[in-house]
Amino acid sequence: MQEKTCACPHCNCQLGKNAVMKDGKGYCCQGCAEHHAHGEPCASATGCECAKSAHG
Ligand SMILES: [Zn+2]
Ligand SMILES: [Zn+2]
Ligand SMILES: [Zn+2]
Repeated sequence: MQEKTCACPHCNCQLGKNAVMKDGKGYCCQGCAEHHAHGEPCASATGCECAKSAHG
């Protein structure tokens, strides 16, 4: 079984128990699933900065 990673372009977090499925893709958290449209931070506590990247 493949390890799946978040579909957020700048996120490499693995999908865990909080994974969100949207449009057939898996995201590690709700923020990623919404493409950080409102600046939601990544739920990952590992310092992932995909939210910042999403807003340049
Ligand atoms: Zn992330
Ligand atoms: Zn993510
Ligand atoms: Zn993200």
